Amino acid sequence: MNVLIIGASRGLGLEFVRQYRAAGARVTATVRDDAGRARLTALGAKPLTLDVASAASVSGLAWQIDGEAFDVVVINAGVFGPRAGALEAPTQDDFDTVMRTNVLGPMRLLPQVAEALAPGARLAIVSSRMGSIGLRTGTHGWLYRASKAAVNSVMKDAALALAGRATVISFHPGWVRTDMGGAEADIDAPTSIAGMRTVLASVKPADTGSFFNYDGQPLAW
Ligand code: NDP
Repeated sequence: MNVLIIGASRGLGLEFVRQYRAAGARVTATVRDDAGRARLTALGAKPLTLDVASAASVSGLAWQIDGEAFDVVVINAGVFGPRAGALEAPTQDDFDTVMRTNVLGPMRLLPQVAEALAPGARLAIVSSRMGSIGLRTGTHGWLYRASKAAVNSVMKDAALALAGRATVISFHPGWVRTDMGGAEADIDAPTSIAGMRTVLASVKPADTGSFFNYDGQPLAW
């Protein structure tokens, strides 16, 4: 199996690399700095350097993955941004950072990744149930919520565009103990990733365009 993980320096992305390598997969993964490259190399993964918020950096990915045929691709990189809730307007800078990383990043990556998919590949975006409108009960992270709702729309359109070629899904990884999730979160990264890997191994073409919890439960948009 040939796997690509985008955003793998730490947290969930690094755990995806660790588990796919432990399962014997060939893994290419992206990070932003030398420390991240060293962590990937130590795990036997091929490191690429990529800042998903930079158009120039993303356009450089195409030649780095030219000729590859990935069976599994996970777009995981993301930022949370301000914790502010509804009716607290974000600054332009915060808006630009969160939307550029969480929405524009995947929109720029997907055309390139689409060229590097093996027949029947599985492509996942790590979104969040905080992006679900149907499940909404609170408002903290107003901007982050909007970005994850937007990337769910991006994923849905990618699923339509890639119908018959790849199964495309969004994940809520659970509330996970990482730098972003914090120490009080519900589950650890190995549990989250083991769950998402099981889902990725079992999804069928008919599941394309779906939103899944890490344990395989379907989620409302
Ligand atoms: P972390 O904050 O621990 O890690 C974020 C990862 O994204 C790092 O590898 C970071 O790289 C990378 N990243 C951020 N910005 C960029 C960028 N511009 N270019 C490339 N890589 C970037 O978060 P998690 O591991 O917890 O989160 C991973 C994903 O899961 C995110 O999309 C997040 O929104 C989502 N998620 C997480 C939840 C949780 O409870 N943890 C819950 C719901 C969703 P670097 O080290 O270079 O900064």
